[in-house]
Amino acid sequence: MILLIDIGGSYLRYEIRDNNKVIKKGKLKSAQIGLCAFIEKILEHEKIKTVAISYAGQVNNGKILSSPHIKIDRHNIKEYIEHKYGVKLYIENDLNCSILAEADCFKAKDIANIAVGTGLGLGVISSGTLIKGSGGIATELGHIPYKESPFTCSCGKNNCIELFASGSGLKLWQEYYKFQNYLKLEELQKSSSENGIKIYKQFREALLFACGVAVTLFNPKILVLGGGIIQSNPQLINLIQKEIANYAMPLSTENLEIRKSYLDDAPLQGAYLLTEDKND
Ligand SMILES: [Zn+2]
Repeated sequence: MILLIDIGGSYLRYEIRDNNKVIKKGKLKSAQIGLCAFIEKILEHEKIKTVAISYAGQVNNGKILSSPHIKIDRHNIKEYIEHKYGVKLYIENDLNCSILAEADCFKAKDIANIAVGTGLGLGVISSGTLIKGSGGIATELGHIPYKESPFTCSCGKNNCIELFASGSGLKLWQEYYKFQNYLKLEELQKSSSENGIKIYKQFREALLFACGVAVTLFNPKILVLGGGIIQSNPQLINLIQKEIANYAMPLSTENLEIRKSYLDDAPLQGAYLLTEDKND
């Protein structure tokens, strides 16, 4: 049996699969229990052979390096669990898991996935290879330098693009302008307040800039957009289709398809695909 986990800043979702059939699933608050402690609890009660984790943070070779929103109860999680329980453990960054699932869905070898939710993330498969970088932290799109802001990003800088084009960024700017109630992107767009419109416009501009950077750098055949903010604002896909040529190198957009993610559960599906990695 396989234990699949998708852990983000808010929730830990899991599935236990037997021959790829879901036999148990659940969801709990990430703050409730540490990831390692949760796995140990499951392993004590279920006959699991493989654990695969999609992790909202930086991961390299089975080690958790950092996470902006998850409290880490053990960094060397692969080594510890495999040694103690004799199971196989896979762990990969959530965007990297998602892009594996999207590439499988679109049957694509050159594909990039931008997720706009709490953060702004990117996963890339180029010529069939997942782009990881020397330390496992390549394609951290949300942290490219963009414009100075009054905030400090989770990475320590104050000019990351995620501070403008993400759910957490929208929240920070509304706090900065002393909004009484938190407005969603679609509410900001229709807002009668000058600052509301300003936050919407700077979000839009930063998102287009980020998409342009991803397309110029990686020249994907397909750019898939997903994440909570995209799901609630599908019109952003049309906007990006219309404007991308103004934000990317023209040649890199010639055969580009910009699509919305079809998958409800890309991180979990991608975690499952990790267990099929023949190179491991
Ligand atoms: Zn940053």
